[in-house]
This record gives sequence, structure tokens and C-alpha cells, in this order.
Amino acid sequence: MPANGKFGVVDATYAKRFETCLACPNLASPPSTAIYKVIGAVDDSENVCRLCGCVVSRKAKLPHEACPDADPELPGMNRWGQPMRTAARTQSGDASEAA
Ligand code: SF4
Repeated sequence: MPANGKFGVVDATYAKRFETCLACPNLASPPSTAIYKVIGAVDDSENVCRLCGCVVSRKAKLPHEACPDADPELPGMNRWGQPMRTAARTQSGDASEAA
């Protein structure tokens, strides 16, 4: 049962994702640009992923999100333990094989 809001992932998934982000070498302080100020990510508690630019505390809650970096120890998987995406997304959100 989702516990991080109506459409969020379950607590255990969120905790695993967020802990992974906090230990990740791609984690960075939020840039001091306007967009990050607008979304409230202006202090170090709202760190961002250097690869995708997302605020990780929020990204980790979203079921459709995926980590963009390969796990250095698990070939074919990302750092969140998901299979690396090899398919392109269509406008409908469905995955299809990349040409
Ligand atoms: S989303 Fe992935 S690459 Fe980005 S900070 Fe989190 S674990 Fe690292």
C-alpha cells in the first residue's frame, strides 16, 4: 500500500531508493538557479542527482521514475536495482524498442 501519497511508492521502496541516492557519487547540492528556488530545493537537504537534475527526495517517491546510472556492481541494472532502460519512451508513456 502506498504510504508516500496516493501515487507514491511504498515506504520500503522509497527508503531503499533514497538511501542509495544519499550514498551515490552523483549526488550534488542543488544549483542556485531560479527553477530550484521555485521548487524549494535551496538547501542541502534537497540534494539533486547530477545526471538527471531531479531533487532525489522527490524523485525517489515517484513510481515511474528510474535511476539513470548503471550499478557499478550489477551489470544491466541501475543503482536502484531496476533493469537499465534500453527502450525509448513513446508519447503515451509506453516503452518501445529503440531502433
Ligand atoms: S538517481 Fe541514481 S544516479 Fe541519481 S543520485 Fe540517485 S542513485 Fe545516484
